[in-house]
Amino acid sequence: MTASARDYAAVYSGFQAPISKIYNCGAKCAPFNGGVPVCCDTGHAIPIVEKTEYALLKKRTKMWTPFVPRTPDQKAEIADLKGSDSCAVECRGAAHCERDNRSLACRSFPFFPYFDAEKNLVGLAHYWNFEGLCWVIHNLTIVEKPFIDQFIAQHEFIFKKDDNWRVTYVEHSAAMRGVYSRRGDKFPIIMRDGTYRWVLPKSGGKMVPATKTELKSLRAGFTLGQE
Ligand code: SF4
Ligand code: SF4
Repeated sequence: MTASARDYAAVYSGFQAPISKIYNCGAKCAPFNGGVPVCCDTGHAIPIVEKTEYALLKKRTKMWTPFVPRTPDQKAEIADLKGSDSCAVECRGAAHCERDNRSLACRSFPFFPYFDAEKNLVGLAHYWNFEGLCWVIHNLTIVEKPFIDQFIAQHEFIFKKDDNWRVTYVEHSAAMRGVYSRRGDKFPIIMRDGTYRWVLPKSGGKMVPATKTELKSLRAGFTLGQE
């Protein structure tokens, strides 16, 4: 069963906290991406929503329309959604963003719910294909507790309604462990309580504490605009 439009309305009202009240992260990446925040640029990220979520959005705003693929890669990505409960959509662009009508994906980016090897939802991990492009991924200590709390609470709410959605993230978390194990590198998790852990490579998902000072080592990885 998927979450209903009404469920998504509840998620939207319970998930309004910004990643940070101090930092406007769009101002960190947009100057290197033609003035458009990377996560609001369909050239980098195509918003995917559940069809029930899209039904809600259509009632609330005219900001969203179905996404029309323009490149072979985009066509392939959209073709993958055929027969699923999800669809690809497009907003009017960052200059016309209606904060209350952002999708769950917009509110969550650049994070997804991270499940440990025992399939417990322990915190937030980043979408690794946005490394180098998304400033937040390289400055995790700016992420504030209200965002973490709302992110976890609203995803748990959705998972109770839609177990397939939970399984998707269990698998995505395992895929991330695989990617980093092949790299021979550790990756950071923002834990539910706001602390940090490293997930060690080739360890079966073993986690060890990470300090804010250690996380500063990630900053050099933000390479957007450096070429
Ligand atoms: S979340 Fe990342 S990609 Fe999106 S605006 Fe902030 S820094 Fe840019
Ligand atoms: S709705 Fe707002 S946050 Fe989401 S992609 Fe569009 S401009 Fe970006």
